[in-house]
This record gives sequence, C-alpha cells and structure tokens, in this order.
Amino acid sequence: MSLSKPIVNPAIKFTQIFINNEWVNSVSGKTFPTINPTTGKKICDIQEGDKADVDNAVLAAKAAFKVGSPWRSMDAYDRGRLLNKLADLIERDVVYIASLETLDNGKPFKDSMGTDMNLVMETIRHYAGWADKLCGKTIPVRGNFFCYTKHEPIGACGQIIPWNFPLLMMAWKIGPALACGNTVVLKPAEQTPLTALYVCSLIKEAGFPSGVVNVVPGYGPTAGAAITSHPDIRKVAFTGSAEVGKIVMVGAAESNLKPVTLELGGKSPVIVCKDADLDEVVELAHNAIFFNMGQVCTAGSRTFVHEDVYDEFVKRATARAKSRKVGSPWDDATESGPQVSEEQFDKILELIESGKKEGAKLECGGARLGNEGYFIQPTVFSNVTDNMRIAKEEIFGPVQQIIKFKDIEEVIERANDTTYGLAAACFTKDLDSALAISSRFEAGTVWVNCFNVFKMNAPFGGFKMSGIGRELGEYGLHAYTEVKNVIVKTPYKLP
Ligand code: ADP
Repeated sequence: MSLSKPIVNPAIKFTQIFINNEWVNSVSGKTFPTINPTTGKKICDIQEGDKADVDNAVLAAKAAFKVGSPWRSMDAYDRGRLLNKLADLIERDVVYIASLETLDNGKPFKDSMGTDMNLVMETIRHYAGWADKLCGKTIPVRGNFFCYTKHEPIGACGQIIPWNFPLLMMAWKIGPALACGNTVVLKPAEQTPLTALYVCSLIKEAGFPSGVVNVVPGYGPTAGAAITSHPDIRKVAFTGSAEVGKIVMVGAAESNLKPVTLELGGKSPVIVCKDADLDEVVELAHNAIFFNMGQVCTAGSRTFVHEDVYDEFVKRATARAKSRKVGSPWDDATESGPQVSEEQFDKILELIESGKKEGAKLECGGARLGNEGYFIQPTVFSNVTDNMRIAKEEIFGPVQQIIKFKDIEEVIERANDTTYGLAAACFTKDLDSALAISSRFEAGTVWVNCFNVFKMNAPFGGFKMSGIGRELGEYGLHAYTEVKNVIVKTPYKLP
C-alpha cells in the first residue's frame, strides 16, 4: 500500500458543516481558513461552526437516536455491516484521503498511507465486528426473580479530536460509538478538518441513516465548548491537551454531568539499560521521539540512558538525528515534514531556547529549517536534568532529551516523577529487569524493546493526568454503553 503515488494537489470537495447527511453553511455565515503547513499558505476556507450549529447537530443526533428511528430499529448485525461498508469505501479512496491528510497536516504521505490509513480501516473493521457481540449477563439473584443486564447505547455523544492523527482519531472515536448504537456530534481540530469532512460523504454513501454522524468544524472555545456543555449530549470524548481536558470536564460537570473520557498528553520515559543493543535502541529511541515530527501524545520525550553507555548513545543518537530526512511530505524518502501550525512551531522553538538557557547541551538542530512552512531541524539535547522545562513540559516537537542515570531503582522513581502517565518504555535484554521495570511504571501503555506499537484491539489511555478511560479494543466499548439491569418477578424460582 505504501508504494502508491500521492495525489499532490488533491481537489477539495467538502468544506461545509455535515448535519443530517446534508452539507450546510454556518448559521453565523463565518468561515475559517485551513492552512497547508508545508507552505504556510491557505488551502481553503471552511464553514465555521459555533453554538448554533452544534445545537442543530445535536437536534439531528437526538432525532436519529429516537426509539423507532431507522438507526434504533436496525439490527446490531446491520450496524456492523454499515461500519464495514464505511471501511471499504475508505479503502477505495485511500490514496485520495491519505493525500488530503498530508496536505492539511503536513505528515509524510508514506505515514498517512502506511500508518494512519491502515489503522483507520483496522479500527473501523474491528468495531464493526463488535456491533453484534455486546452481550449482557444473567445474574442468579436471591428470590423469585429473573435478573439480566443489557448494554444499551447512551445517546448523542460529543467527540472532540486533535490534529496530529486527524482521521485516525475520528476512527477511534466513531468506531466504538457507532458499534454500540450511539449517534455522534464530532468536532475535528480547526487545523485539520479536511479528511473528517470527506469521510462524512462516505458515511452518507455507506448508507448510515441521517443524523447518526454529524460533523461540525470550528474552534475549541466556541464549537468545542458548545459540545462539552450541551445539556442534550449524553457523553463527551476528548483527545487533546491536559489543559483543555480540564475545561472539558468542567463544562461536562456544570451542564448535565455527562460522563467524560479524556486522552491527554504525556512526557513518556524511555529507559535504556546498559545491556541494551545500542544499534537497535538508538534507532527505536530516535523514532520514539521524531515520528510524526514529535507530535504524538506518547512521544518518548525523556530518554534515560545508563551512564556506562551514555556518551556512546548521545554520539549515535546525534548522528541519527542529523541524518533524518526532513522535507517535502510528498517525497518518498522524507522522514519528517513540517510541524502542523505556526503556533506549535513557535511553542517548540521557545522550549528549545529554554533548554539552551537552562544549560542543556545542544548536540544538533535547535532552529528552523528553510524559510517556508513550519519545518524544524531534528534537535538533540544531552546533559538534560530532570528540573529543566524540556524535561518536564510536553514539547510536541522533534526534540530529544537525553538524560543520564546510574541506578535502576532511582531512574524508575525519576521516570514516574511527572503528572503524566500515558506511555513508558524500557530497553534491556534481561527479562527480569524488563518485568520489574514494567510493573513499576505508572503508565497506561508500557513498551518493552519496542515503541509506538498501536493495535486496534489493545487498550490505550493514560494513568494520572494523561487521561480518563481507555480507547480501542473491548475496553474502548465501556465508554459508549449504559448497563441496564432488568429484574423480572417470576411465579417460581428459576432453576
Ligand atoms: P492542541 O493544544 O494540541 O491544539 P487542544 O487541546 O487545544 O490541543 O485541542 C484539541 C481539540 O480540542 C481541538 O479540536 C480543539 O479545537 C479543541 N478545544 C480547544 N479548546 C477547547 C475548549 N475550550 N472546549 C472544547 N474543545 C476545545
């Protein structure tokens, strides 16, 4: 699949709000630009959703959820068939969609195609299979009663997604929500609305009844806040920064106490033990931080290396970062494209400056690359200490922090000394150490001798301030059903 050629100038077909399987303009008449991060120039204007548009989308989602509606009357098996049809349509148009993703987000086309789109289709197909397997229990209660549970959909679900894996985050959100029979009001990130809007046309083509999926592009404090605080939205799922995660939770609490799932940031530790195979680990630790231009919530942004191999590791990691191919996301050889936006670009450069000021040693990079678009040189800092901002704050950019350690016990404490707990990794050939370190990490995902391995059927989410709840696999279904307990009086004791 990764051998397909991109469509370098994909035609933009959809720029409006998608409600009730129809395209509409914003109530306010406002639009906002979406920018090509490779050039810094506008791609097109998008209809800007706000509270009034979210209200309309919620009305549609509520109507689609009414008992007796086509969606509520549909057999669970047929919901699964619709999801499979959607995945098939995405596969049919995958080169176009991956191209659109690269245009809007800046990620290398080979990543859009290879990593993102494969996981998009796998996730939707995985959840298609779950639609008719949401089973309750029968419970042998005391007395003359027949007691059973049902897993019922919650209702209209609000979903707010980020820009780093735009369509993938949509798949992670709508997959379980629709498999369970909910309806959806989704807001894509303002930086990257294009693929979500195109996929709306496929949702319609697949035959989902109107109002089941509604997509309202717009900004966070307006359209996003209208979703989190809407009294008729029954659940909200959010992926983004911890700072906004708190705002989402407050909005949910103050409106109707809707349940919230959050997938937030991280400052993931990577522990390199002295027995690790350096050739292999330098490459894995490099990709742990530089993949997707560092714009990954699990990014391995604190690389703890044992003092015995520290200098050699720094040397090789620096050489690898210098050799990383940064450039046009359309070229096959490119490993990194631009950062997603000027705002992120500025934030990363500011944190790089703080690293220099606070005394970390800049081994390579540390500045803008070229003079067009939002490219940053792959940057490596050594002699990083735990109290520096670059060791504490989520940079979300191509900046590797290499930190020295002496003792395993001590480094586990340091690795866990963060408010985050999304992912953690260790590299060692010693199984006992690997198991001991894994059990001590405070993180939702632990990788041993690997990194950034995501599977649609394995759970993902954070400890501590990295989130609430889990996405993917069977665990990901829990957030999208209400458990109903039914107790029926019987004239006799059931055997
Ligand atoms: P980042 O800082 O990486 O852009 P954000 O957390 O700001 O991440 O954004 C993630 C998503 O949350 C985006 O869709 C954004 O529009 C949305 N968002 C931002 N602010 C709010 C808010 N106050 N309420 C709801 N959603 C928001």
